[in-house]
Amino acid sequence: MKIAFIGLGNMGSPMAANLLKAGCEVTVFDIDPTHTKALESQGATAARSLEEAVSGVDTVVTMLPAGQHVRAVYLGDHQGGSGLLKMIAPGTFLIDSSTIDPDSARIVAAEAEKLGFEFVDAPVSGGVAGAQAGTLTFIVGGSDSAFEKARSVLQHMGKNIFHAGKAGDGQMAKICNNLMLGILMSGTCEALSLGIDNGLDPKVLSDIMMQSSGRNWALELYNPCPGIMASVPSSNDYKPGFMTKLMLKDLGLGLEAATRSQSAIPMGMLARNLYAFHNAAGHDQQDFSSLFQFYRKKNQ
Ligand code: NAD
Repeated sequence: MKIAFIGLGNMGSPMAANLLKAGCEVTVFDIDPTHTKALESQGATAARSLEEAVSGVDTVVTMLPAGQHVRAVYLGDHQGGSGLLKMIAPGTFLIDSSTIDPDSARIVAAEAEKLGFEFVDAPVSGGVAGAQAGTLTFIVGGSDSAFEKARSVLQHMGKNIFHAGKAGDGQMAKICNNLMLGILMSGTCEALSLGIDNGLDPKVLSDIMMQSSGRNWALELYNPCPGIMASVPSSNDYKPGFMTKLMLKDLGLGLEAATRSQSAIPMGMLARNLYAFHNAAGHDQQDFSSLFQFYRKKNQ
């Protein structure tokens, strides 16, 4: 399998590394060339341009920050830069694993289809640890045949591969998941902080809630209070991980979707506004679990 991997950030780098480990030939490209260095030493070919990256491959995987980056890479930007749909050979299969708005995913899928290419949206859950371990959950939107093709590539990077529905539905399911995650992380920070303020040891409180009805993913695998869990961002100065600005983006995608469907999402909006304050206070590049600091500020 010859794969071009575009976007080698916190998630893309370990995902591309797993494709290399599975024996795929991988060409990598990132607008920040320092991001491709580590992968070159693991056997990837670093391309100097998008065009060079996608030439001669049978599959393209993209892992970019947001919808505008995905549209620019596939369709071209407003300054006249071409998108990869104009660069790839017939039959090239396209997978976007970024978390973006469903409309952008549907627009790219429709443009790809017009030119005879198959495209799936395949956002992921599982974080950097899941990307490193090759245990990500992929949530795919696209036709049945495109889903089967996608599975043969995604199995090298993930464990659970779901077919959410048609183009864009993978993104919609991912947005619902991250709305829940934003709420759960905020609630976990809040409960731990309340316990600390009232004299409890946060490690003991975490152990209690882990075996009680407050148990959730943040508590179980990603405790936001420093020093409780090894190898999570809170115990490493909140180095990401999943940046606050990306969680804010995802909760914003939830708001956009709710506006379209006239749905009430009061909990999601509270979480979004907490993240907006936290982001504006300069924590945008820190891991999203650093929201814990927002609750602790009064004690610092
Ligand atoms: P990141 O910012 O670390 O990485 C994005 C990479 O894309 C950067 O290296 C950037 O230089 C590159 N890039 C931007 N524009 C580009 C372009 N035009 N051409 C080539 N490269 C370009 O972000 P990340 O944490 O890796 O997240 C990527 C996506 O995955 C986001 O949509 C995010 O919401 C989603 N996601 C992240 C996590 C996580 O835990 N970090 C978990 C699940 C989903």
